[in-house]
Amino acid sequence: MVEICLPGTGGMLPLENRWTASCWIEFQGTAILIDCGEGTQIALKKAGCRLSRLALLLITHFHADHIAGLPGLLLTLGNYGKNTPITIAGPAGLEQVTASLMTIAPNLPYSIIFKELDGKNQDFDLFSICFSSMHLKHRIPCLGYRI
Ligand SMILES: [Zn+2]
Repeated sequence: MVEICLPGTGGMLPLENRWTASCWIEFQGTAILIDCGEGTQIALKKAGCRLSRLALLLITHFHADHIAGLPGLLLTLGNYGKNTPITIAGPAGLEQVTASLMTIAPNLPYSIIFKELDGKNQDFDLFSICFSSMHLKHRIPCLGYRI
């Protein structure tokens, strides 16, 4: 069974009861998070999402409300004892953007595996799950995902 949760449905700014956009998907014990704006780790905990199951982050684009929460979430995972790699997929430039964000949290107890997608329609498999990424129209390069 696939479980889907929308811990955040807000716009640019996190509000007390409306966090920035994020989507949590669980399938056979593996959790996927799409986008990670500021405070996403708080929204996930409030929604009851089991962070220990998070294996993959899919980033749609590099506007702050979709990625600025990465240092907080990745630090929280480390504080909860994560010691296995996490995979992050997103548009080209993902590794550089993440490295910039993580200068404030440089020492995680696990590694990050990056998968940069070129913006063209692309199929890929991770964790025995089939994904497709596709270009979306936005002001900056932006990807949509089919799982
Ligand atoms: Zn945007």
